[in-house]
Amino acid sequence: AIINFGSINIDHVYQVDHFVTPGETLASNHYQTLLGGKGANQSIALAMAGADVRHVGCIHENDASFKQTLIRKGVDCRFVKCSDTPSGHAIIQVTPSGENAIVLFGGANQTITEKMVEHALDDAKSSDWVLMQNETSCIKEAMQQAKKKGLKVAFNPAPMSESVKALPYNCIDLLIVNETEAAAITGESEIDAILNHFTEKWGHARVIVTLGKVGVVMLQKGERTEVKAFSVEAIDTTAAGDCFIGYFLSAFASHADARQALIRGCAASAIAVTREGAAQSIPEEKEVDRFLAK
Ligand code: ADP
Repeated sequence: AIINFGSINIDHVYQVDHFVTPGETLASNHYQTLLGGKGANQSIALAMAGADVRHVGCIHENDASFKQTLIRKGVDCRFVKCSDTPSGHAIIQVTPSGENAIVLFGGANQTITEKMVEHALDDAKSSDWVLMQNETSCIKEAMQQAKKKGLKVAFNPAPMSESVKALPYNCIDLLIVNETEAAAITGESEIDAILNHFTEKWGHARVIVTLGKVGVVMLQKGERTEVKAFSVEAIDTTAAGDCFIGYFLSAFASHADARQALIRGCAASAIAVTREGAAQSIPEEKEVDRFLAK
């Protein structure tokens, strides 16, 4: 199984003519609520890719319908706790040209406790993976407990923050970053310097750097595997990374063929960027199979 300690957000999406300016009250004539959060998106991508995924997280008890959405997608939600803390949410303004401006409130995502981590890992097997992003509390504890139990740890430090640098990097088996996160962690800006830094300093782990429409590079034991992105007409790249991670990790956890898993991740995310939205843009496994058969 893949045990994902992840955020569950409610995205409140408002269409606006322009971003609200200081002191302005701006009317919006279109509003939608969607399930979001990098954690939930990655759990959905994992489930769509056929993985056995257990989500560990918290939401407000009035938002239990969002937990049902995850369950319908095939995610095991026994460890999603409903409490009286407001759910994590994002207030998203979208302009006619598709630009967005976002206010993010962590809420219940920040109420994951060490006890919850312990409980969720209680019956874990040594073949299980633990996954986390940077949108929940107790990331460090989850990494350390997972390591102690001999589980494999995958970490996607998104969104990047200063606190990431204080995490126990030696507990990480697989680091998955985009270019921005890679630059922040290594302190380098050029891709070659970034990859050299990872090769020298991250020999204990596998590292994947996703490079948007260029593709992806994976480093393991001094060896580089590169896979080009599929050429598609992208209309919305929201959750491209989450979709990649879910499809990659589902494949890699089941057969450990890195190149095949990278190709599946790239194919799934190439489909996702041709569709609008976050979780709803993640394709089903059979669509990915058809795409790859072409
Ligand atoms: P993030 O969404 O985390 O910033 P990236 O932008 O690096 O991550 O995208 C993740 C993966 O999604 C890429 O490695 C690539 O395979 C795929 N992808 C992203 N943008 C495109 C695109 N325009 N065309 C094809 N594939 C894309």
